[in-house]
Amino acid sequence: MSIQGIVLIQLWIFGLGLVVGSFLNVCIHRIPEGISIVWPASKCVYCSKRIVWYDNIPVLSYFFLRGKCRHCQHKISAQYPIVEFLTGIVFLLVFRSVLIVSGGLICAYIFFIIFCCLLIVGSFVDLRLHIIPNEITYTGLILAPIASLLCTGFHNLNSALGYFNNSTNQWIDSFLASLIGIFVSGGLIFLCGVFGKLVFRKDAMGFGDVKLMGMIGGFLGWKLGIATFFLAPFFGLLFGLPKLILKRGNVIPYGPFLSLAAFICLLFKDYFVGLIDNYLDIYLTLFQLL
Ligand SMILES: [Zn+2]
Repeated sequence: MSIQGIVLIQLWIFGLGLVVGSFLNVCIHRIPEGISIVWPASKCVYCSKRIVWYDNIPVLSYFFLRGKCRHCQHKISAQYPIVEFLTGIVFLLVFRSVLIVSGGLICAYIFFIIFCCLLIVGSFVDLRLHIIPNEITYTGLILAPIASLLCTGFHNLNSALGYFNNSTNQWIDSFLASLIGIFVSGGLIFLCGVFGKLVFRKDAMGFGDVKLMGMIGGFLGWKLGIATFFLAPFFGLLFGLPKLILKRGNVIPYGPFLSLAAFICLLFKDYFVGLIDNYLDIYLTLFQLL
């Protein structure tokens, strides 16, 4: 394909991400309140006036309206343009990493994009309300095994199954890769929560995080699930420390850090799978020596 063609496709993908981001904003606000995400049309949260299409253009409308509602002049949350722009960037980065660099399948790209959308909605709801809605995690937990059946190129099977038995049927292998991912990743953080409760005598980890990690493992496989588990605390420290030092609230939602770590693992899949393989080799060698 020509250079212009590739640039054009990427612009189109970015634009698509902006529009989907606009829909994700609706999900972030309506899912926790149990309101339908398709009906009614968008309204101003404050004056309930319907938002016309030209005031609903991703990112741009926010700046045209100078961040205020056209009717009641109430300030519009900066979360709207941020989520839209972020979704555009995510669509583009995953496109580059899954399709251009790794030469993956289009079906894999579509499922990874849905996965990222679930992470974005889950993270922003978690930031706002400190919960990760079941609508998000259950959708992911069900969708990941389905995706692995519909698109067997979804997991890199050799690495996704690893030490677990390889059968000769690619559908069974792909499905197993997803299930093992769910149980290893979810189990890891579940044990972490049990241990934390024993040590600190209070809930260290919510069950929402367990389901979120299960979903991440289902999409990325158990090795990247483990990589996400170890990467997330670094982001947690990076963002959480200043907040702790400034003593601005003591509850730090963990979902966004898990999501960010999972996203980084998705973008640099091969690197993180290699890293986990190396560590596993070292541990297994040590184990055999004992
Ligand atoms: Zn208004």
